[in-house]
Amino acid sequence: MEEKKITENTYNTVIVGGGIAGLTSAVYLARSGQKVLLIEKNKELGGLVNSFTRDGFQFEAGVRALEDAGIIFPMLKDLGIELEFVKSHVSLGIENDIINIETINDIEKYMQLLVKLFPESEIEINVFIKIIRKIMKHMEVLYGIENPAFKDLKRDKKYLFRELLPWLPKFIFTVGKINRMNMPIEDYLHTIIKNPSLRDMIAQHFFKKTPAFFALSYFSLYLDYFYPKGGVGKLSEALKNKIIEYGGTIKTETIIIEVLAENCLVRDQNNSIYNYDNLIWAADLKTLYKIIETHDLPPVNQAKYEETKIKMLQNRGGDSVFSLYLEVDEPLESFRKIAHGHFFYTPSKSGLGETHRKELNELLSNFENIKKEQIMNWLDKFTRLNTYEISIPGLKDPSLVPSDKTGIIISLLAEYDLFKAIQKAGWLDEFTSEMENHMINVISDSIYPMLKTKIMKRFSFTPLSIQNRVGSSEGAIVGWSFEKAMPVENKIQFSDRSVMTPIPSIYQAGQWAYSPAGVPMSILTGKLAADKIMKKRKFNS
Ligand SMILES: Cc1cc2nc3c(=O)[nH]c(=O)nc-3n(C[C@H](O)[C@H](O)[C@H](O)COP(=O)(O)OP(=O)(O)OC[C@H]3O[C@@H](n4cnc5c(N)ncnc54)[C@H](O)[C@@H]3O)c2cc1C
Repeated sequence: MEEKKITENTYNTVIVGGGIAGLTSAVYLARSGQKVLLIEKNKELGGLVNSFTRDGFQFEAGVRALEDAGIIFPMLKDLGIELEFVKSHVSLGIENDIINIETINDIEKYMQLLVKLFPESEIEINVFIKIIRKIMKHMEVLYGIENPAFKDLKRDKKYLFRELLPWLPKFIFTVGKINRMNMPIEDYLHTIIKNPSLRDMIAQHFFKKTPAFFALSYFSLYLDYFYPKGGVGKLSEALKNKIIEYGGTIKTETIIIEVLAENCLVRDQNNSIYNYDNLIWAADLKTLYKIIETHDLPPVNQAKYEETKIKMLQNRGGDSVFSLYLEVDEPLESFRKIAHGHFFYTPSKSGLGETHRKELNELLSNFENIKKEQIMNWLDKFTRLNTYEISIPGLKDPSLVPSDKTGIIISLLAEYDLFKAIQKAGWLDEFTSEMENHMINVISDSIYPMLKTKIMKRFSFTPLSIQNRVGSSEGAIVGWSFEKAMPVENKIQFSDRSVMTPIPSIYQAGQWAYSPAGVPMSILTGKLAADKIMKKRKFNS
Protein backbone atom coordinates (compact mmCIF):
# COMPACT_ATOMS: atom_id res chain seq x y z
CA MET A 1 0.00 0.00 0.00
CA GLU A 2 1.34 3.48 -0.80
CA GLU A 3 2.26 5.88 1.99
CA LYS A 4 0.60 9.27 1.87
CA LYS A 5 3.39 11.58 0.80
CA ILE A 6 3.38 15.19 1.91
CA THR A 7 4.44 16.92 -1.26
CA GLU A 8 3.49 20.08 -3.05
CA ASN A 9 0.75 17.92 -4.53
CA THR A 10 -1.13 17.83 -1.20
CA TYR A 11 -4.41 19.71 -1.12
CA ASN A 12 -7.22 20.29 1.37
CA THR A 13 -9.62 19.35 -1.39
CA VAL A 14 -9.10 17.80 -4.80
CA ILE A 15 -12.04 18.06 -7.19
CA VAL A 16 -12.20 15.73 -10.18
CA GLY A 17 -14.25 17.07 -13.08
CA GLY A 18 -14.21 20.66 -14.30
CA GLY A 19 -17.85 20.73 -15.44
CA ILE A 20 -20.25 23.21 -13.87
CA ALA A 21 -20.52 21.13 -10.66
CA GLY A 22 -16.76 20.85 -10.11
CA LEU A 23 -16.26 24.53 -10.94
CA THR A 24 -18.88 25.45 -8.32
CA SER A 25 -17.27 23.30 -5.61
CA ALA A 26 -13.84 24.69 -6.44
CA VAL A 27 -14.85 28.33 -6.36
CA TYR A 28 -16.53 28.06 -2.96
CA LEU A 29 -13.74 26.05 -1.35
CA ALA A 30 -11.09 28.38 -2.76
CA ARG A 31 -13.07 31.36 -1.44
CA SER A 32 -13.10 29.78 2.03
CA GLY A 33 -9.30 29.76 1.98
CA GLN A 34 -8.73 26.07 1.28
CA LYS A 35 -5.87 24.82 -0.85
CA VAL A 36 -7.90 23.52 -3.76
CA LEU A 37 -7.05 21.62 -6.92
CA LEU A 38 -9.56 21.23 -9.76
CA ILE A 39 -8.65 18.48 -12.24
CA GLU A 40 -10.20 18.35 -15.71
CA LYS A 41 -9.67 15.80 -18.47
CA ASN A 42 -10.17 18.20 -21.38
CA LYS A 43 -8.26 21.26 -22.48
CA GLU A 44 -11.32 23.42 -21.87
CA LEU A 45 -13.43 23.64 -18.70
CA GLY A 46 -17.22 23.58 -18.39
CA GLY A 47 -18.00 20.01 -19.50
CA LEU A 48 -21.56 20.16 -20.84
CA VAL A 49 -21.72 23.94 -20.20
CA ASN A 50 -19.41 24.98 -22.96
CA SER A 51 -19.34 27.12 -26.12
CA PHE A 52 -16.91 26.82 -29.03
CA THR A 53 -16.17 28.67 -32.25
CA ARG A 54 -15.70 27.30 -35.79
CA ASP A 55 -15.13 29.45 -38.86
CA GLY A 56 -16.36 32.51 -36.95
CA PHE A 57 -19.62 30.82 -35.84
CA GLN A 58 -20.12 30.26 -32.13
CA PHE A 59 -22.06 27.19 -30.97
CA GLU A 60 -22.83 25.38 -27.70
CA ALA A 61 -21.35 21.93 -27.22
CA GLY A 62 -23.86 21.03 -24.50
CA VAL A 63 -26.79 22.84 -22.91
CA ARG A 64 -28.19 25.53 -25.26
CA ALA A 65 -29.43 28.03 -22.64
CA LEU A 66 -29.57 28.21 -18.83
CA GLU A 67 -32.43 27.92 -16.36
CA ASP A 68 -32.03 30.02 -13.24
CA ALA A 69 -34.18 27.80 -10.97
CA GLY A 70 -33.43 30.15 -8.06
CA ILE A 71 -29.84 28.91 -8.18
CA ILE A 72 -27.75 30.48 -10.95
CA PHE A 73 -28.48 34.17 -10.31
CA PRO A 74 -28.16 33.88 -6.50
CA MET A 75 -24.81 32.10 -6.98
CA LEU A 76 -23.54 34.81 -9.34
CA LYS A 77 -24.68 37.52 -6.91
CA ASP A 78 -23.02 35.74 -3.99
CA LEU A 79 -19.74 35.46 -5.91
CA GLY A 80 -19.86 39.02 -7.22
CA ILE A 81 -19.86 37.83 -10.84
CA GLU A 82 -21.45 40.14 -13.36
CA LEU A 83 -22.54 38.57 -16.61
CA GLU A 84 -24.84 40.10 -19.15
CA PHE A 85 -27.87 37.88 -19.84
CA VAL A 86 -30.64 38.02 -22.39
CA LYS A 87 -33.90 36.13 -22.14
CA SER A 88 -33.77 32.97 -24.27
CA HIS A 89 -37.35 32.93 -25.48
CA VAL A 90 -38.74 29.59 -26.59
CA SER A 91 -41.01 28.85 -29.56
CA LEU A 92 -43.04 25.67 -29.90
CA GLY A 93 -44.13 24.37 -33.28
CA ILE A 94 -46.08 21.44 -34.66
CA GLU A 95 -46.38 21.14 -38.46
CA ASN A 96 -47.20 24.65 -39.77
CA ASP A 97 -48.26 26.14 -36.46
CA ILE A 98 -45.78 27.98 -34.29
CA ILE A 99 -46.32 29.81 -31.03
CA ASN A 100 -43.92 32.04 -29.14
CA ILE A 101 -43.82 31.58 -25.39
CA GLU A 102 -42.98 34.78 -23.61
CA THR A 103 -45.26 35.01 -20.61
CA ILE A 104 -47.16 32.69 -18.35
CA ASN A 105 -50.37 33.55 -20.25
CA ASP A 106 -49.01 31.95 -23.41
CA ILE A 107 -50.21 28.64 -22.02
CA GLU A 108 -53.50 29.69 -23.66
CA LYS A 109 -51.81 29.75 -27.08
CA TYR A 110 -50.39 26.29 -26.37
CA MET A 111 -53.85 24.99 -25.53
CA GLN A 112 -55.28 26.50 -28.72
CA LEU A 113 -52.49 24.98 -30.77
CA LEU A 114 -53.22 21.50 -29.41
CA VAL A 115 -56.98 21.91 -29.86
CA LYS A 116 -56.50 23.08 -33.45
CA LEU A 117 -54.44 19.99 -34.24
CA PHE A 118 -56.50 17.53 -32.18
CA PRO A 119 -60.06 18.96 -32.10
CA GLU A 120 -61.52 15.58 -31.16
CA SER A 121 -59.47 15.64 -27.92
CA GLU A 122 -60.51 19.09 -26.69
CA ILE A 123 -61.82 17.86 -23.34
CA GLU A 124 -58.64 15.90 -22.62
CA ILE A 125 -56.52 18.89 -23.63
CA ASN A 126 -58.43 21.07 -21.16
CA VAL A 127 -57.73 18.59 -18.38
CA PHE A 128 -54.07 18.41 -19.37
CA ILE A 129 -53.68 22.20 -19.43
CA LYS A 130 -55.29 22.44 -15.99
CA ILE A 131 -52.64 20.05 -14.71
CA ILE A 132 -49.87 22.10 -16.32
CA ARG A 133 -51.26 25.22 -14.64
CA LYS A 134 -51.19 23.47 -11.26
CA ILE A 135 -47.63 22.37 -11.85
CA MET A 136 -46.69 25.93 -12.76
CA LYS A 137 -48.01 27.02 -9.37
CA HIS A 138 -45.88 24.34 -7.67
CA MET A 139 -42.85 25.47 -9.66
CA GLU A 140 -43.46 29.05 -8.51
CA VAL A 141 -43.07 27.73 -4.95
CA LEU A 142 -40.14 25.46 -5.70
CA TYR A 143 -38.07 28.12 -7.43
CA GLY A 144 -39.91 31.05 -5.83
CA ILE A 145 -37.07 32.20 -3.60
CA GLU A 146 -33.34 32.40 -4.01
CA ASN A 147 -31.96 29.00 -3.01
CA PRO A 148 -30.85 29.13 0.65
CA ALA A 149 -27.60 27.30 -0.21
CA PHE A 150 -26.38 30.56 -1.78
CA LYS A 151 -27.48 32.88 1.03
CA ASP A 152 -25.70 33.82 4.24
CA LEU A 153 -28.39 32.82 6.72
CA LYS A 154 -26.46 34.15 9.72
CA ARG A 155 -26.09 37.66 8.35
CA ASP A 156 -29.04 38.04 6.00
CA LYS A 157 -31.83 38.14 8.60
CA LYS A 158 -34.20 39.81 6.17
CA TYR A 159 -33.95 36.84 3.80
CA LEU A 160 -34.21 34.38 6.70
CA PHE A 161 -37.31 35.85 8.33
CA ARG A 162 -39.13 37.44 5.41
CA GLU A 163 -38.46 34.87 2.71
CA LEU A 164 -37.09 31.53 3.85
CA LEU A 165 -39.20 30.86 6.96
CA PRO A 166 -42.55 31.85 5.35
CA TRP A 167 -41.59 29.76 2.30
CA LEU A 168 -40.79 26.53 4.18
CA PRO A 169 -44.37 25.34 4.89
CA LYS A 170 -45.31 26.03 1.25
CA PHE A 171 -42.25 24.08 0.15
CA ILE A 172 -43.14 21.08 2.34
CA PHE A 173 -46.70 21.09 0.98
CA THR A 174 -45.43 21.30 -2.61
CA VAL A 175 -42.91 18.49 -2.10
CA GLY A 176 -45.79 16.23 -1.04
CA LYS A 177 -47.60 17.04 -4.31
CA ILE A 178 -44.46 16.50 -6.39
CA ASN A 179 -43.70 13.13 -4.85
CA ARG A 180 -47.19 11.96 -5.76
CA MET A 181 -46.42 12.64 -9.43
CA ASN A 182 -43.36 10.48 -9.62
CA MET A 183 -44.67 7.95 -12.15
CA PRO A 184 -43.16 7.89 -15.67
CA ILE A 185 -44.59 10.56 -17.96
CA GLU A 186 -45.76 7.95 -20.51
CA ASP A 187 -47.86 6.13 -17.88
CA TYR A 188 -49.17 9.36 -16.44
CA LEU A 189 -50.33 10.64 -19.82
CA HIS A 190 -52.16 7.34 -20.40
CA THR A 191 -54.38 8.19 -17.42
CA ILE A 192 -55.56 11.48 -18.93
CA ILE A 193 -55.18 11.30 -22.73
CA LYS A 194 -56.54 8.59 -25.03
CA ASN A 195 -55.23 9.87 -28.37
CA PRO A 196 -51.76 8.28 -28.87
CA SER A 197 -50.54 11.01 -31.26
CA LEU A 198 -51.47 13.72 -28.79
CA ARG A 199 -49.70 11.82 -26.03
CA ASP A 200 -46.63 11.62 -28.25
CA MET A 201 -46.72 15.37 -28.98
CA ILE A 202 -46.26 15.88 -25.26
CA ALA A 203 -44.07 12.94 -24.22
CA GLN A 204 -41.53 12.79 -27.05
CA HIS A 205 -39.87 16.00 -25.81
CA PHE A 206 -38.62 14.10 -22.78
CA PHE A 207 -36.23 11.35 -21.77
CA LYS A 208 -37.70 7.86 -21.50
CA LYS A 209 -39.70 7.42 -18.29
CA THR A 210 -39.04 10.93 -17.01
CA PRO A 211 -40.95 11.41 -13.72
CA ALA A 212 -44.26 13.10 -14.62
CA PHE A 213 -43.81 16.16 -12.44
CA PHE A 214 -40.34 16.89 -13.81
CA ALA A 215 -41.52 16.43 -17.40
CA LEU A 216 -44.67 18.51 -17.04
CA SER A 217 -42.81 21.37 -15.44
CA TYR A 218 -41.49 22.09 -18.96
CA PHE A 219 -43.83 24.99 -19.56
CA SER A 220 -42.44 26.79 -16.49
CA LEU A 221 -38.90 25.95 -17.53
CA TYR A 222 -39.44 27.43 -21.00
CA LEU A 223 -40.15 30.76 -19.29
CA ASP A 224 -36.99 30.50 -17.18
CA TYR A 225 -34.36 30.16 -19.96
CA PHE A 226 -31.58 32.76 -20.08
CA TYR A 227 -28.59 33.10 -22.34
CA PRO A 228 -25.34 34.79 -21.30
CA LYS A 229 -24.13 37.27 -23.91
CA GLY A 230 -21.20 35.51 -25.54
CA GLY A 231 -22.66 32.01 -25.06
CA VAL A 232 -23.36 29.61 -22.17
CA GLY A 233 -19.61 28.95 -21.86
CA LYS A 234 -19.32 32.43 -20.31
CA LEU A 235 -20.73 30.98 -17.08
CA SER A 236 -17.98 28.37 -16.86
CA GLU A 237 -15.36 30.95 -17.80
CA ALA A 238 -16.55 33.33 -15.06
CA LEU A 239 -16.31 30.57 -12.42
CA LYS A 240 -12.86 29.59 -13.65
CA ASN A 241 -11.65 33.19 -13.31
CA LYS A 242 -13.02 33.37 -9.77
CA ILE A 243 -11.26 30.14 -8.77
CA ILE A 244 -7.98 31.62 -9.96
CA GLU A 245 -8.73 34.94 -8.23
CA TYR A 246 -9.31 33.06 -4.93
CA GLY A 247 -6.00 31.21 -5.29
CA GLY A 248 -7.31 27.81 -6.45
CA THR A 249 -5.26 25.63 -8.81
CA ILE A 250 -6.67 24.22 -12.04
CA LYS A 251 -5.07 21.39 -14.00
CA THR A 252 -6.56 20.65 -17.41
CA GLU A 253 -5.75 17.80 -19.84
CA THR A 254 -5.39 15.61 -16.75
CA ILE A 255 -7.36 12.38 -16.45
CA ILE A 256 -7.73 10.66 -13.09
CA ILE A 257 -7.29 6.95 -13.65
CA GLU A 258 -7.01 5.69 -10.07
CA VAL A 259 -8.33 6.63 -6.64
CA LEU A 260 -6.64 5.05 -3.60
CA ALA A 261 -9.11 5.80 -0.83
CA GLU A 262 -7.05 4.55 2.15
CA ASN A 263 -4.12 6.71 1.14
CA CYS A 264 -6.30 9.67 0.17
CA LEU A 265 -4.67 10.08 -3.21
CA VAL A 266 -5.58 10.12 -6.87
CA ARG A 267 -3.33 9.26 -9.81
CA ASP A 268 -3.47 10.73 -13.30
CA GLN A 269 -2.59 9.32 -16.74
CA ASN A 270 1.01 10.53 -16.40
CA ASN A 271 1.39 8.75 -13.05
CA SER A 272 1.36 12.02 -11.10
CA ILE A 273 -0.15 11.67 -7.65
CA TYR A 274 -2.29 14.21 -5.81
CA ASN A 275 -2.93 13.84 -2.07
CA TYR A 276 -6.15 15.11 -0.57
CA ASP A 277 -7.87 15.55 2.78
CA ASN A 278 -11.18 15.57 0.91
CA LEU A 279 -12.08 14.54 -2.59
CA ILE A 280 -15.11 15.71 -4.57
CA TRP A 281 -15.91 13.47 -7.52
CA ALA A 282 -17.76 15.76 -9.94
CA ALA A 283 -17.65 13.44 -12.96
CA ASP A 284 -19.29 10.20 -14.10
CA LEU A 285 -19.91 8.06 -11.00
CA LYS A 286 -19.61 4.67 -12.70
CA THR A 287 -16.03 5.70 -13.51
CA LEU A 288 -15.33 6.40 -9.84
CA TYR A 289 -16.59 2.98 -8.76
CA LYS A 290 -14.55 1.29 -11.50
CA ILE A 291 -11.23 2.95 -10.61
CA ILE A 292 -11.39 3.23 -6.83
CA GLU A 293 -9.44 0.97 -4.46
CA THR A 294 -10.82 0.65 -0.93
CA HIS A 295 -9.57 -1.95 1.53
CA ASP A 296 -9.96 -0.96 5.14
CA LEU A 297 -13.34 0.73 5.23
CA PRO A 298 -15.21 0.50 8.56
CA PRO A 299 -17.72 -2.43 8.31
CA VAL A 300 -20.82 -0.16 8.00
CA ASN A 301 -19.21 1.81 5.19
CA GLN A 302 -17.98 -1.38 3.52
CA ALA A 303 -21.50 -2.85 3.29
CA LYS A 304 -22.92 0.42 2.00
CA TYR A 305 -20.02 0.77 -0.41
CA GLU A 306 -20.58 -2.70 -1.91
CA GLU A 307 -24.32 -2.06 -2.24
CA THR A 308 -23.79 1.35 -3.86
CA LYS A 309 -21.14 0.03 -6.22
CA ILE A 310 -23.44 -2.74 -7.46
CA LYS A 311 -26.32 -0.29 -7.95
CA MET A 312 -24.15 2.18 -9.84
CA LEU A 313 -22.50 -0.37 -12.11
CA GLN A 314 -25.79 -2.07 -12.92
CA ASN A 315 -27.43 1.18 -13.89
CA ARG A 316 -26.80 3.20 -17.00
CA GLY A 317 -26.78 6.76 -18.25
CA GLY A 318 -30.03 8.23 -19.53
CA ASP A 319 -30.89 9.33 -23.07
CA SER A 320 -28.27 10.99 -25.19
CA VAL A 321 -28.50 13.43 -28.06
CA PHE A 322 -27.45 13.75 -31.71
CA SER A 323 -26.55 17.34 -32.59
CA LEU A 324 -26.14 18.68 -36.10
CA TYR A 325 -24.23 21.97 -36.49
CA LEU A 326 -24.82 24.08 -39.58
CA GLU A 327 -23.02 27.16 -40.89
CA VAL A 328 -25.58 28.81 -43.14
CA ASP A 329 -25.21 31.56 -45.74
CA GLU A 330 -28.47 33.25 -44.84
CA PRO A 331 -29.02 36.26 -42.55
CA LEU A 332 -30.40 35.84 -39.04
CA GLU A 333 -33.48 37.85 -40.02
CA SER A 334 -34.80 35.04 -42.24
CA PHE A 335 -34.87 32.75 -39.21
CA ARG A 336 -36.05 35.40 -36.73
CA LYS A 337 -39.24 35.80 -38.80
CA ILE A 338 -40.10 32.15 -38.21
CA ALA A 339 -39.33 31.41 -34.57
CA HIS A 340 -37.24 32.37 -31.55
CA GLY A 341 -33.65 31.19 -31.19
CA HIS A 342 -34.68 28.30 -28.95
CA PHE A 343 -37.29 26.28 -30.78
CA PHE A 344 -38.92 22.92 -30.10
CA TYR A 345 -40.34 21.75 -33.40
CA THR A 346 -42.31 18.65 -34.37
CA PRO A 347 -42.76 18.38 -38.17
CA SER A 348 -45.56 15.80 -37.99
CA LYS A 349 -48.43 15.52 -35.56
CA SER A 350 -48.57 11.74 -36.05
CA GLY A 351 -46.12 11.15 -33.22
CA LEU A 352 -43.17 8.80 -32.86
CA GLY A 353 -45.27 5.97 -31.46
CA GLU A 354 -43.01 2.98 -30.82
CA THR A 355 -40.32 4.11 -33.30
CA HIS A 356 -37.83 5.11 -30.62
CA ARG A 357 -38.70 2.24 -28.26
CA LYS A 358 -40.16 -1.10 -29.35
CA GLU A 359 -39.07 -0.86 -33.00
CA LEU A 360 -35.57 0.30 -32.12
CA ASN A 361 -35.24 -2.34 -29.39
CA GLU A 362 -36.21 -5.01 -31.92
CA LEU A 363 -33.55 -3.80 -34.34
CA LEU A 364 -30.92 -3.68 -31.61
CA SER A 365 -31.74 -7.08 -30.12
CA ASN A 366 -31.09 -8.75 -33.47
CA PHE A 367 -28.54 -6.29 -34.88
CA GLU A 368 -26.18 -8.81 -36.57
CA ASN A 369 -29.02 -10.07 -38.76
CA ILE A 370 -30.44 -6.67 -39.64
CA LYS A 371 -29.74 -5.17 -43.06
CA LYS A 372 -28.50 -1.60 -43.42
CA GLU A 373 -31.63 -0.87 -45.42
CA GLN A 374 -33.83 -1.71 -42.42
CA ILE A 375 -31.88 0.70 -40.24
CA MET A 376 -32.16 3.42 -42.89
CA ASN A 377 -35.93 2.87 -43.13
CA TRP A 378 -36.14 3.20 -39.38
CA LEU A 379 -34.01 6.37 -39.54
CA ASP A 380 -36.36 7.86 -42.11
CA LYS A 381 -39.35 7.41 -39.79
CA PHE A 382 -37.40 8.48 -36.71
CA THR A 383 -36.37 11.80 -38.26
CA ARG A 384 -39.77 12.55 -39.81
CA LEU A 385 -41.85 11.92 -36.70
CA ASN A 386 -39.57 13.25 -33.98
CA THR A 387 -39.37 16.49 -32.00
CA TYR A 388 -36.33 18.68 -32.71
CA GLU A 389 -34.60 21.14 -30.42
CA ILE A 390 -33.29 23.95 -32.62
CA SER A 391 -30.94 26.57 -31.23
CA ILE A 392 -29.73 29.65 -33.08
CA PRO A 393 -27.13 31.39 -30.91
CA GLY A 394 -27.08 34.47 -33.21
CA LEU A 395 -30.75 35.18 -32.49
CA LYS A 396 -29.81 35.57 -28.83
CA ASP A 397 -26.55 37.42 -29.44
CA PRO A 398 -25.93 38.57 -33.04
CA SER A 399 -22.21 39.02 -32.35
CA LEU A 400 -21.82 35.23 -32.39
CA VAL A 401 -22.00 34.89 -36.18
CA PRO A 402 -20.32 36.51 -39.20
CA SER A 403 -22.52 39.21 -40.74
CA ASP A 404 -25.42 37.96 -42.89
CA LYS A 405 -24.79 34.38 -41.80
CA THR A 406 -26.49 32.05 -39.29
CA GLY A 407 -25.20 29.20 -37.16
CA ILE A 408 -27.79 26.57 -36.24
CA ILE A 409 -27.76 23.59 -33.88
CA ILE A 410 -30.46 21.00 -34.58
CA SER A 411 -30.73 18.08 -32.18
CA LEU A 412 -32.71 14.94 -31.45
CA LEU A 413 -32.70 12.65 -28.44
CA ALA A 414 -30.73 9.61 -29.55
CA GLU A 415 -29.97 6.07 -28.40
CA TYR A 416 -26.35 5.39 -27.46
CA ASP A 417 -26.67 1.63 -28.10
CA LEU A 418 -27.62 2.21 -31.74
CA PHE A 419 -24.54 4.32 -32.45
CA LYS A 420 -22.34 1.84 -30.57
CA ALA A 421 -23.69 -1.09 -32.60
CA ILE A 422 -23.24 0.76 -35.89
CA GLN A 423 -19.70 1.80 -34.91
CA LYS A 424 -18.90 -1.85 -34.16
CA ALA A 425 -20.31 -2.84 -37.53
CA GLY A 426 -17.94 -0.31 -39.15
CA TRP A 427 -20.32 2.15 -40.82
CA LEU A 428 -20.68 4.95 -38.25
CA ASP A 429 -19.54 7.73 -40.62
CA GLU A 430 -22.01 6.62 -43.27
CA PHE A 431 -24.86 6.48 -40.74
CA THR A 432 -23.97 9.85 -39.23
CA SER A 433 -23.88 11.47 -42.65
CA GLU A 434 -27.21 9.87 -43.57
CA MET A 435 -28.74 11.10 -40.31
CA GLU A 436 -27.52 14.62 -41.08
CA ASN A 437 -29.08 14.39 -44.58
CA HIS A 438 -32.40 13.22 -43.19
CA MET A 439 -32.52 15.97 -40.58
CA ILE A 440 -31.68 18.66 -43.13
CA ASN A 441 -34.35 17.34 -45.51
CA VAL A 442 -37.05 17.20 -42.86
CA ILE A 443 -36.31 20.71 -41.58
CA SER A 444 -35.97 22.21 -45.10
CA ASP A 445 -39.20 20.56 -46.25
CA SER A 446 -41.07 22.01 -43.30
CA ILE A 447 -40.01 24.95 -41.23
CA TYR A 448 -36.89 26.49 -42.81
CA PRO A 449 -37.37 26.09 -46.61
CA MET A 450 -34.34 28.33 -47.30
CA LEU A 451 -32.01 26.03 -45.37
CA LYS A 452 -31.06 23.27 -47.77
CA THR A 453 -29.37 25.30 -50.49
CA LYS A 454 -27.60 27.69 -48.12
CA ILE A 455 -25.57 25.32 -45.96
CA MET A 456 -21.87 26.11 -46.26
CA LYS A 457 -20.56 23.57 -43.75
CA ARG A 458 -21.98 20.94 -41.44
CA PHE A 459 -20.73 18.61 -38.72
CA SER A 460 -22.31 16.63 -35.90
CA PHE A 461 -21.77 15.16 -32.45
CA THR A 462 -23.18 11.71 -31.70
CA PRO A 463 -23.82 10.08 -28.29
CA LEU A 464 -20.38 8.52 -28.71
CA SER A 465 -18.78 11.98 -29.08
CA ILE A 466 -20.42 13.05 -25.81
CA GLN A 467 -19.14 9.96 -24.04
CA ASN A 468 -15.63 10.56 -25.38
CA ARG A 469 -15.57 14.23 -24.53
CA VAL A 470 -16.89 14.30 -20.97
CA GLY A 471 -16.61 10.61 -20.03
CA SER A 472 -20.36 10.39 -19.52
CA SER A 473 -21.67 6.78 -19.39
CA GLU A 474 -23.75 5.98 -22.48
CA GLY A 475 -23.30 9.59 -23.61
CA ALA A 476 -25.94 10.65 -21.08
CA ILE A 477 -26.69 14.36 -20.95
CA VAL A 478 -28.45 14.63 -17.59
CA GLY A 479 -27.07 11.69 -15.61
CA TRP A 480 -28.86 8.44 -14.74
CA SER A 481 -31.50 6.72 -16.83
CA PHE A 482 -35.02 6.93 -15.42
CA GLU A 483 -35.69 3.39 -16.63
CA LYS A 484 -34.06 1.61 -13.69
CA ALA A 485 -34.10 2.05 -9.91
CA MET A 486 -32.22 5.25 -9.15
CA PRO A 487 -28.83 4.62 -7.48
CA VAL A 488 -28.70 8.16 -6.03
CA GLU A 489 -30.97 10.53 -4.12
CA ASN A 490 -34.04 11.66 -6.05
CA LYS A 491 -36.15 13.45 -3.48
CA ILE A 492 -35.77 17.22 -3.44
CA GLN A 493 -36.24 17.46 0.35
CA PHE A 494 -33.18 15.22 0.80
CA SER A 495 -30.96 16.86 -1.82
CA ASP A 496 -28.55 17.76 0.98
CA ARG A 497 -27.66 14.06 1.39
CA SER A 498 -27.06 13.52 -2.31
CA VAL A 499 -23.40 14.54 -2.06
CA MET A 500 -22.42 11.90 0.52
CA THR A 501 -20.71 8.65 -0.47
CA PRO A 502 -20.01 5.57 1.67
CA ILE A 503 -16.28 6.30 1.41
CA PRO A 504 -14.85 8.55 4.13
CA SER A 505 -13.64 11.95 2.88
CA ILE A 506 -15.08 11.39 -0.62
CA TYR A 507 -18.06 13.44 -1.77
CA GLN A 508 -19.95 13.42 -5.06
CA ALA A 509 -21.42 16.29 -7.07
CA GLY A 510 -23.01 16.98 -10.43
CA GLN A 511 -25.53 15.33 -12.68
CA TRP A 512 -24.71 11.83 -11.39
CA ALA A 513 -25.16 12.75 -7.72
CA TYR A 514 -28.86 13.64 -7.81
CA SER A 515 -31.72 12.85 -10.16
CA PRO A 516 -33.41 14.49 -12.02
CA ALA A 517 -30.41 16.66 -12.80
CA GLY A 518 -29.45 19.42 -15.22
CA VAL A 519 -27.38 22.57 -14.83
CA PRO A 520 -29.05 24.05 -11.71
CA MET A 521 -28.94 20.77 -9.76
CA SER A 522 -25.34 20.18 -10.81
CA ILE A 523 -24.46 23.62 -9.45
CA LEU A 524 -26.44 23.02 -6.26
CA THR A 525 -24.76 19.68 -5.54
CA GLY A 526 -21.36 21.30 -6.23
CA LYS A 527 -22.17 23.90 -3.58
CA LEU A 528 -23.60 21.36 -1.11
CA ALA A 529 -20.47 19.20 -1.37
CA ALA A 530 -18.29 22.26 -0.71
CA ASP A 531 -20.51 23.17 2.27
CA LYS A 532 -20.12 19.70 3.82
CA ILE A 533 -16.34 20.02 3.61
CA MET A 534 -16.32 23.57 5.00
CA LYS A 535 -18.54 22.48 7.92
CA LYS A 536 -16.35 19.48 8.66
CA ARG A 537 -13.30 21.73 8.72
CA LYS A 538 -14.92 24.16 11.12
CA PHE A 539 -15.97 21.27 13.36
CA ASN A 540 -12.44 19.84 13.40
CA SER A 541 -10.67 23.14 14.01
C1 LIG B 1 -27.53 19.02 -25.70
C2 LIG B 1 -27.73 19.21 -24.22
C3 LIG B 1 -28.84 19.90 -23.78
C4 LIG B 1 -29.05 20.08 -22.41
N1 LIG B 1 -30.12 20.82 -22.02
C5 LIG B 1 -30.28 21.09 -20.69
C6 LIG B 1 -31.33 21.97 -20.27
O1 LIG B 1 -32.12 22.48 -21.08
N2 LIG B 1 -31.43 22.23 -18.96
C7 LIG B 1 -30.56 21.71 -18.03
O2 LIG B 1 -30.66 22.03 -16.84
N3 LIG B 1 -29.57 20.87 -18.41
C8 LIG B 1 -29.41 20.55 -19.71
N4 LIG B 1 -28.39 19.73 -20.10
C9 LIG B 1 -27.62 19.02 -19.08
C10 LIG B 1 -26.53 19.82 -18.39
O3 LIG B 1 -25.72 20.45 -19.35
C11 LIG B 1 -25.71 18.86 -17.52
O4 LIG B 1 -26.56 18.12 -16.68
C12 LIG B 1 -24.70 19.58 -16.63
O5 LIG B 1 -23.97 20.53 -17.37
C13 LIG B 1 -23.77 18.54 -15.99
O6 LIG B 1 -22.72 19.16 -15.30
P1 LIG B 1 -21.66 18.29 -14.49
O7 LIG B 1 -20.62 19.22 -14.00
O8 LIG B 1 -22.36 17.45 -13.50
O9 LIG B 1 -21.07 17.24 -15.54
P2 LIG B 1 -20.17 17.43 -16.85
O10 LIG B 1 -20.52 18.67 -17.56
O11 LIG B 1 -20.24 16.15 -17.58
O12 LIG B 1 -18.71 17.62 -16.26
C14 LIG B 1 -17.91 16.55 -15.84
C15 LIG B 1 -16.48 16.92 -16.18
O13 LIG B 1 -15.61 15.90 -15.68
C16 LIG B 1 -14.57 15.66 -16.62
N5 LIG B 1 -14.08 14.31 -16.36
C17 LIG B 1 -14.72 13.15 -16.56
N6 LIG B 1 -13.97 12.11 -16.16
C18 LIG B 1 -12.81 12.63 -15.70
C19 LIG B 1 -11.62 12.06 -15.15
N7 LIG B 1 -11.47 10.74 -14.99
N8 LIG B 1 -10.61 12.90 -14.80
C20 LIG B 1 -10.73 14.25 -14.95
N9 LIG B 1 -11.84 14.83 -15.45
C21 LIG B 1 -12.87 14.03 -15.82
C22 LIG B 1 -15.27 15.82 -17.96
O14 LIG B 1 -14.38 16.06 -19.00
C23 LIG B 1 -16.23 16.98 -17.69
O15 LIG B 1 -15.66 18.22 -18.01
C24 LIG B 1 -28.14 19.53 -21.47
C25 LIG B 1 -27.02 18.83 -21.92
C26 LIG B 1 -26.81 18.67 -23.28
C27 LIG B 1 -25.57 17.94 -23.75
